[in-house]
Amino acid sequence: MRKIVVIDQDKCVGCGKCVEACPTSALILEDGKAKLAFEERCDGFGSCIAVCQNNAIRLELRDAKPFYWGILKEIDFEKFLEKLEKHWKLG
Ligand code: SF4
Repeated sequence: MRKIVVIDQDKCVGCGKCVEACPTSALILEDGKAKLAFEERCDGFGSCIAVCQNNAIRLELRDAKPFYWGILKEIDFEKFLEKLEKHWKLG
């Protein structure tokens, strides 16, 4: 069990901000809705929650694949912070 995101499909409008804000590329847009496609990439820190203006994302405690820590080596944190800043300014 661990904390991991869940997306309310009824509230999601498919803006894609969460997908862009996720530093570990855990989310995708599919059929106009955000989806947690790679739960092993979800760190549970909630960058996606911060940018969702529709309150469509929350954390829940459930059984999930363990977090893949190796993904942290692949993140360009400078670009990630630029993206977050862009979203917060637009917010
Ligand atoms: S930011 Fe919110 S509304 Fe936009 S795609 Fe993600 S879950 Fe849907």
